[in-house]
Amino acid sequence: MQHSRGRILAKPVTAQLSLPPFRASAMDGYAIHAEEFDQLLVIIGESLAGQPFQGDIGPGECVRIFTGALVPASADQIILQEEVAERKGSQVRFNSHNTPESYIRPIGNDLKIGSRIAGQGDLLNPFLMGSLASAGVNSVEVFRKPVIGVFSSGDELRDPGVQVEDLLEGQIYDSNRLTVIQLLANLPLEVRDLGRLADEVDVVSEALTSGAKYCDAMITSGGVSVGDADYITETIEKLGTLAFWRLNLKPGKPMAFGKIENCWIFGLPGNPVSTIVTALLLVRPALAALAGTVPEAPLRIKAKLTTSLQHQPGRTEYQRGTFTQRDDGFEVGHTGDQDSNRLSTFHNANCLIKVDNETRDLQPGDWVNILPLTDLIN
Ligand code: AMP
Ligand code: MG
Repeated sequence: MQHSRGRILAKPVTAQLSLPPFRASAMDGYAIHAEEFDQLLVIIGESLAGQPFQGDIGPGECVRIFTGALVPASADQIILQEEVAERKGSQVRFNSHNTPESYIRPIGNDLKIGSRIAGQGDLLNPFLMGSLASAGVNSVEVFRKPVIGVFSSGDELRDPGVQVEDLLEGQIYDSNRLTVIQLLANLPLEVRDLGRLADEVDVVSEALTSGAKYCDAMITSGGVSVGDADYITETIEKLGTLAFWRLNLKPGKPMAFGKIENCWIFGLPGNPVSTIVTALLLVRPALAALAGTVPEAPLRIKAKLTTSLQHQPGRTEYQRGTFTQRDDGFEVGHTGDQDSNRLSTFHNANCLIKVDNETRDLQPGDWVNILPLTDLIN
């Protein structure tokens, strides 16, 4: 069970017992017959959590009791220990007090035996894991982790770790593969780094053919535009089916999506910002669904702009922004020039600012919707 964190339930789970499983005291005090609360009562024993009083109370009797302890069968009231007026040896008298509260938790007050605790598609998080443990559930069935292959593509790319002075002219580091792999890290997936594809049609074709044999989904970045060295889209079309190519989205327009045999394929644009935005908004929710969850729409918060914001109607745009919580709500500003090659727009960013397709330039004080990054990668 400790190993199930982050996995997705494949079957509903029901409580194996009621909680509490016995009538339990909610307070430290004395278990009495309610109608005798104003009498001098004899304390005939103690009931502690895990060490119940054996037997029952009779007329004129009470039991010292503590939180979580079994309440003697005929007791119907716990008097709080703060209400003791006098205690002489084994005798006790209480302040007269009137409360509708019995301080006795009935059997099943938290959970009834056989009731449903969680359903198929639920994520095993600390709260659910605690609930399952409390309900006597020791093992659960979870969905298999889908296998996800991640490629990058481009002859200009070198692996991170190569010395800066060893980069040849025209070369850059491959940041997308690492970023995509990291963006998937919280999901119940088995992510495989499948390396970098050269800009050669046969290389791309062979890699996607062999990856499709054992992956449930593959992700590439780069090579989906209309350049001479862009082979991803045509290869998907050749080997399988292209479900779509190009979205009315900024950044991320050239994204391609399709299927090769039984393997979904996401062809993300190569510009690093486009790669991240499409991975966050499209790939992660899709893979979460593939893993068995029922994805929810991302968290959206209204925030007031502190900067102006340029936008031409035509595409829905997601700009990088930094939002701050104020007493009266949220404020947000963009992080500078929003070109899709500029990974630096993510420096200090904590949200995406959603700018709807038909919106025109916005001014400070205008309201926008923001999507916190913490939610998008959780
Ligand atoms: P492409 O779509 O292949 O033309 O790539 C668009 C831009 O993104 C180019 O400037 C590429 O150099 C850059 N790019 C592509 N893949 C990566 C990557 N894995 N890491 C960093 N930049 C990349
Ligand atoms: Mg390329």
